[in-house]
Parts: sequence; C-alpha cells; structure tokens
Amino acid sequence: MTFFACCAAHSGPIFHMVSYAMACGVAPMAAVSIYSVEGLAGLGGRLLYGVLGDRLGVKPVLITGLAIQAAVIAAYLAVGRLEQFYVLAVIFGATYGGVMPLYAVLAREYFGPRIIGTVFGAATMLSSLGMSFGPLAGGMIYDAYASYSWLFIGSALVGLGAAGIAIANGIRVDQHMQSSIPEILAVGDAASYRHWFTGGDVRLESVQNATDQARLAARTIVGHAEPFAAVPWFWSDIGDMKLQMVGLTQGGDSHVVLGEPAENRFSIYHYAGNRLLGIESVNRPADHMLGRKMLGAGFSPAPHTVAAGPDALKAALAAFSQDEPARASA
Ligand SMILES: Cc1cc2nc3c(=O)[nH]c(=O)nc-3n(C[C@H](O)[C@H](O)[C@H](O)COP(=O)(O)OP(=O)(O)OC[C@H]3O[C@@H](n4cnc5c(N)ncnc54)[C@H](O)[C@@H]3O)c2cc1C
Repeated sequence: MTFFACCAAHSGPIFHMVSYAMACGVAPMAAVSIYSVEGLAGLGGRLLYGVLGDRLGVKPVLITGLAIQAAVIAAYLAVGRLEQFYVLAVIFGATYGGVMPLYAVLAREYFGPRIIGTVFGAATMLSSLGMSFGPLAGGMIYDAYASYSWLFIGSALVGLGAAGIAIANGIRVDQHMQSSIPEILAVGDAASYRHWFTGGDVRLESVQNATDQARLAARTIVGHAEPFAAVPWFWSDIGDMKLQMVGLTQGGDSHVVLGEPAENRFSIYHYAGNRLLGIESVNRPADHMLGRKMLGAGFSPAPHTVAAGPDALKAALAAFSQDEPARASA
C-alpha cells in the first residue's frame, strides 16, 4: 500500500510538471528542462538513498524519503520562477528516484526467497496502478478547476499517507486480537495494539505475549468476548543470568534497586510517579514472581515498601488482597 500511495503521490506532479511550469509563466523549452533535471537528479538519488538504506536501515530511510517527497510536492505550490523549479526538481527527482529501489530491499527483508517473485510482482502491480492513477487524477482536476493547485495539495496528502502507512508497526488489532477485518486475527510479534496496562500502542516480542494472545485469539474465534488483559512478562536465560521482566517500563521516571548489582543478583523497580510500571530482575526469580502477582492484582506498592524488601512487599500485597479480594484474584 505504501508503494501504491508513493507512486500515486509523485506520478501526477511528474506527469503534469511541464504544463504546471508553463502555467506559472515558464517558457516551454525551459519547462521541459525541469523534467530533465528531475530525471538526472533521480540517478544520483538512487545511489544516495541506496547507500543511506544500507547504512541507516531501509525503513527509516524510506519513511524520511516519503516525508521529503510530500513536502517538496507541497512546496511546488509556492514557486513560480525557473530557478526555483530547478531547486525543487533536484530534491524531488532525487527523492522519488531514490525511494523506488528501496521497496525491493524491504521485500527481501520481509519475505523468503521462495515467494519473493510473487510478492514483488504484486507490489509492482500495485505501484503501477498508483502511477496510472496520479496523471489521470491530475488531468481531471485541471479540467475541472483550470488549475493544478488541488493536484499538488492532493498529491502531497497522498504522499504523507504513504509515509504514515510505512510507519505503521505491525498488524493493528483490538483487545480481542481482531484486525479491522474481524475475521482476520493477529497475535504475537506481528500484532500491534493498545495495551491495557500502559494505554499506549505496543508490539511486544516475547514468547509469553505470543502464547497469551494466541489463547485469547482462539477464545475470540469460538465466540468469547474477553479483552486482552494478561500482565506482560518476559524471561530469558543468558549465560549465568536469568533475565526476567514484568510490566512495561516505558515512561518511568524513577526506580528502586533491590539486591546486589555487583553480584549479578538484583531487581530494578520502575516507577512513573507513585505507580509501579514494571520490574526487571537478574537472578532474582522470587522478585519476578511476586511482581507478577502484584501487577496482576493491580497493586502498586509505594517505593519505600519496595526498598524495605521482599517480606514487606509480601505483607503489603496480602493486606491489599484482603481489602480488594476481587481485584486481587482477577
Ligand atoms: C534471537 C531471539 C531470541 C529471543 N529470545 C527470547 C527470549 O529469551 N524470551 C522471549 O520471551 N522471547 C524471545 N524472543 C522473542 C520470541 O521468540 C518471539 O517474540 C516469539 O517467538 C514470537 O512468536 P510468534 O508466534 O509471534 O512469531 P514466530 O515465532 O516468529 O512465528 C512465526 C512463524 O510464522 C512462519 N511464517 C512467516 N511467514 C510465513 C508465511 N508467509 N507463511 C507461513 N508461515 C510463515 C515463520 O516461519 C515462523 O515459524 C527471541 C527472539 C529472537 C529472534
């Protein structure tokens, strides 16, 4: 879809550029030379964006290129002199020429060699539809309004949309793991969703997240309507370190450390204000297990209770569970 929107965005301005420049008062031969400058700039752009993609990562370079493309298309509305057209033609040509090869690299990153031909064939088919859509829309707009303004405004917006689609991180699902097409569900590394715990959008890469979501998706398929409410946790053994995390710690502004970091046996309790966001433990599995109980019960101990140690925490959780048994057992 990004490929389609990218081509739909730049094809109209490319195709109608000469007529637009003439409508702005540029002489016909000079107007044609703007098109040539775009083409020449595209040669360098392909190399430049390719090198940047290798060094900085294809996706961020593609997104940046798409944003630049949208901005330049909009900037054409503000120019009228030949030299201004040339300046924009260099940026525009380099950008639309530069982003095009990046789609092939992205496809290779996301799909295996056995299906890459089919994937790229389908992608280029969509891009060709985009390429044919822009010039047609531009012609219709000019016929209707005797002006190219709406072509450049519309193309810039479509270009921004292309960048927006490229930014999307994973398959968007709701609290039942259903995508915008309810019959299509997504779980695990592929799924991005609004997390009940933080209220923010996440895409979690952990075995626990994938299996919890798979269970919930199965229940959704057979007709249950429970929302996803699992406490996020992660576990990994690396050498002599047992790494465990519970909760989501983004947005934390303070922390309390329990244990002995120098001996590789400690836990970090992350807070946002007075709210416990999560606990990261190294070789302290009891802290992790207690943390899962606390966050699962909706209990956020005060930082000074954490600092008092595990016994104080257990007592505080027991007192909370007596006061709020329903939440604690949920
Ligand atoms: C090196 C590494 C170490 C990790 N360590 C940990 C850890 O210690 N603890 C932890 O919790 N998490 C860890 N993770 C993350 C964890 O492995 C993933 O979050 C989890 O496996 C995601 O499960 P999933 O089912 O969403 O995706 P995956 O496990 O990636 O499963 C997706 C499956 O779909 C298949 N597939 C892909 N495309 C197609 C297709 N077109 N048609 C058919 N099949 C297809 C793939 O071959 C794969 O088998 C680690 C990940 C990596 C890469």
